[in-house]
Amino acid sequence: MSWEANVRQVIPYVPGEQPKKKVIKLNTNENPYPPSQKVKKALEDFDIDKLRLYPDVNAGELGEGLARYYNVLPEQTFVGVGSDDVLATAFLTFFNSDKPILFPEITYSFYDVWANLYNIPFKQVEMDENFRIRKEDYYGENGGIVIPNPNAPTGLAKDPGDIEDIIRHNPDSVVIIDEAYVDFGATSVLPLINKYDNLLVVQTFSKSRSMAGARIGMAFGSKKLIKYLNDVKFSINSYTMNILTVTAGKAMLDDDGYFKDTVEKIVATRERVKKELKALDFEFPDSKSNFIFARHKSVPAVDILNAAREEGIYLRHFKKPERINDYLRISIGTDEEMDSLVDFLKGFLGR
Ligand code: PMP
Repeated sequence: MSWEANVRQVIPYVPGEQPKKKVIKLNTNENPYPPSQKVKKALEDFDIDKLRLYPDVNAGELGEGLARYYNVLPEQTFVGVGSDDVLATAFLTFFNSDKPILFPEITYSFYDVWANLYNIPFKQVEMDENFRIRKEDYYGENGGIVIPNPNAPTGLAKDPGDIEDIIRHNPDSVVIIDEAYVDFGATSVLPLINKYDNLLVVQTFSKSRSMAGARIGMAFGSKKLIKYLNDVKFSINSYTMNILTVTAGKAMLDDDGYFKDTVEKIVATRERVKKELKALDFEFPDSKSNFIFARHKSVPAVDILNAAREEGIYLRHFKKPERINDYLRISIGTDEEMDSLVDFLKGFLGR
């Protein structure tokens, strides 16, 4: 028998490409604007002596700052290395039942990877013909629930009332709401953590706060939920958040005006691009996120994807499931970047 028989073999998540050369990068939902200049200043002023010591296990001033900003207790706050880290830890902590966990059939493609890694049974719940999540489909028996709001890659947001209905129908499961894109136009259910002790709300600095490279994700939940999450985290690696990232993240959190202006710009660009895409015969769900999930009425997605790439414009395409095979996920860049995309599309489609 080979040692390979005992290897935990997994099919990993495949992230969008990070090209070395300069391209118009609309493939990984990054923010096209830099973080606040206050982040630069905080890093310039950073006292390197702080690097001698292990960092605070609860992300120090960043954890405390988040609790203050979102009006929750520090004990209701959890910080991780991007929301992927937070979600992976949450899957490991809360999904430990023989019953399948539920998540939408078309959603963030990391969920089934974690479920497989941790041997968690799962069921991908069908959506309606317009990619809408039907709340009633989440009322049956299950081992846990995870729903992104807005959903990825569709960009569709769900009403907080509908999300609350799902939570209310599931007192025996942990319900994770992945709000990676919530700042771009959905309503957060964060206030509900004081009402439901089985609700975990997960957010990130990667999209609306322009800091995908810093890897900051956070979760909010009842004290009990956060304690369980920390117990698992402290059983793997207590020091996930390094002090440089804590410093940078806190500075970004403190510049609320800049954050809101940036989000507003991206939303305005998104709404303008929706009109341009419609005029070019694209159809798409009404995105409330920083991307548009679009299909052309006659030209296959792969043809557009490849031609755009030739022009140095990177978009994201998912081969599976088949139902979304003809869609492209287009991240919202700067106005200039989106103009280049629209110009390319006009040329390619012969308009
Ligand atoms: N959730 C969703 C729905 C996402 O699209 C992403 C981005 N890939 C993440 C979570 C993870 O983002 P991050 O780890 O950068 O916070």
